[in-house]
Amino acid sequence: MQIVTSPQKLRELCSQWHHGHQSIALVPTMGYCHAGHEALMEYGRANADKLVVSVFVNPAQFGPNEDLAQYPRDLDRDAAIAESRGADLVFAPEAQAMYADRHATWVEVPTMAAGLCGTSRPGHFRGVCTIVLKLFNLTRADLAVFGQKDWQQQAILRRMAADLDLPVKVVACPTVREADGLALSSRNVYLSDTERKQAPAIRAALLEARERAQAGETDARRLIDGVLGFWSRHMPDGICDYATVAHPETMEPLERVDGPALLACAVKLGKARLLDNILLRD
Ligand code: AMP
Repeated sequence: MQIVTSPQKLRELCSQWHHGHQSIALVPTMGYCHAGHEALMEYGRANADKLVVSVFVNPAQFGPNEDLAQYPRDLDRDAAIAESRGADLVFAPEAQAMYADRHATWVEVPTMAAGLCGTSRPGHFRGVCTIVLKLFNLTRADLAVFGQKDWQQQAILRRMAADLDLPVKVVACPTVREADGLALSSRNVYLSDTERKQAPAIRAALLEARERAQAGETDARRLIDGVLGFWSRHMPDGICDYATVAHPETMEPLERVDGPALLACAVKLGKARLLDNILLRD
């Protein structure tokens, strides 16, 4: 497995593979890999000839008061994990290599990025779309693998790929969880013991909401109130950033659950901001 820091070198290696008629799967990450990332690598490994894993803490997707500086990093460990999962190449560029001094081009899907995570993280998805498009262009990947944990992100990236006629198949793999239901996240390391004990309530509340929806509750507000009530009983240190029922493809907020519906949320627990979501109806 090669570790590459130069975008030009990445482009050259991927070009050689394409010329040899080998398909490429790309798994973009910010590193500090866990079993969630590994599941994406496994999917990529099984569905393409070559597997490229990028490890880049993308400054453009962090707001000024967010955790860019503190974000956990361990490239040696990430490279070992990627290699153990059969990656052919880890791309780990410096920020300057990805954003030239005069960088001035941004990619946005504004309607889909306005709500949910976009409300408290303005500019976040613009940063995500821009870096992912750059990675698509450098690798010309046939397949790109993302996680359903970041549901809004994969929905936006699918839209971007369709709208811009990008020759890449975007796939989103199911969320990998701890035994108690907490979605794996690199940011879980920020949790104190007390916060970690409360964190499974995030998922438990979503499961309860799905049960209520399956039992016939169609009022999104009532489902959300149920989630908020569950959290206040079981997660006293949690602060809800948002809990929203939205259409799973367009991310438009829904008042009624009478077709495909996703309940997505972000919760601040101590220093961590944790995401989760559940499909109420497919
Ligand atoms: P990140 O390094 O947090 O930017 O995540 C890189 C990719 O891994 C994204 O596509 C995430 O959606 C995905 N991912 C993160 N956590 C999980 C998880 N627990 N299960 C599945 N995929 C995940």
